[in-house]
Amino acid sequence: MITIKSKEELNYMRQAGKILSEVFKAVEVFVKPGITTADLDKIAYDYIIKHNAKPSFLNYGGFPKSICASVNDEVVHGIPSKKRILHDGDIVTVDVGACFKGYHADAARTYAVGNISDEAKRLMKVTEECFFKGVALAREGNHIGDISNAVQQHAESNGFSVVRDLVGHGVGAQLHEDPNVPNFGKPGKGPKLKAGMTLAVEPMINEGTYQVWQLDDGWTIVTQDGMLSAQYENTIIITKDECEIITL
Ligand code: MG
Repeated sequence: MITIKSKEELNYMRQAGKILSEVFKAVEVFVKPGITTADLDKIAYDYIIKHNAKPSFLNYGGFPKSICASVNDEVVHGIPSKKRILHDGDIVTVDVGACFKGYHADAARTYAVGNISDEAKRLMKVTEECFFKGVALAREGNHIGDISNAVQQHAESNGFSVVRDLVGHGVGAQLHEDPNVPNFGKPGKGPKLKAGMTLAVEPMINEGTYQVWQLDDGWTIVTQDGMLSAQYENTIIITKDECEIITL
């Protein structure tokens, strides 16, 4: 069931989104060679708690941490660890959710660790562009498939691929709600967008094959060919005009 949020619910979500935008500012200055993904998790956890919110991912389905930290060929759901030291040339995706007064926001950024390759830079840039191409069509009266198709077209026209097994989603009182928001699809297909819907739009773009598999830890998703993956995600509110991005 797709829910339409009330003004009050939207305000709680905006507050959660604002906290996330600040979490990224706090985290990004520490993304340097030598830091561990557990360190980044702690920064995010502390910031969210200090601002009277809850980390949405902590204990979600048994996930043990507050952020997902996915390095290089890891697509999503990497578990922060003291053993996972970031090195010069890595890319790391930090995905984080915050829950304020019972309402979630969800967002992700991929960061460069030190000096990265030109191809990694291009992947990150195109992934971010995919998000903005998609949400440019996110308005009342359009369809989920319009967003999906715009993301896919931009990724593939740049020689990259779009992960199929994981998709964006509705977000609100639950971290994951209807509808699914795939990063691939056809214009005019899927549920029709209405003002007050809230969506996490999250292109996951791979350098090589779109195929992924899960590691034995039961969480981490990696590319099957070992090539890089990047992600860029924000929570948006559908309106009659341009959507409102609440996690920027
Ligand atoms: Mg999400």
